Amino acid sequence: MTIDHRLLSLLVCPLCKGPLTLARDDQNQAIELVCNADRMAYPVRDGIPVMLESEARQLDATTDPPTR
Ligand SMILES: [Zn+2]
Repeated sequence: MTIDHRLLSLLVCPLCKGPLTLARDDQNQAIELVCNADRMAYPVRDGIPVMLESEARQLDATTDPPTR
């Protein structure tokens, strides 16, 4: 299952309402939605974005966020 761009355009960071960057793995599967402003990564499970702060991964300062 993939996330299409129309869905992605509707998704914003629940914290800052800013745009998110979709991170993909080697198989081009969506794995995370990253907020570069907050340095938070929201997981994508079975193609479903989990837009919960409690589920998000905090990116540490040494981790480069995906760039697209
Ligand atoms: Zn944010």
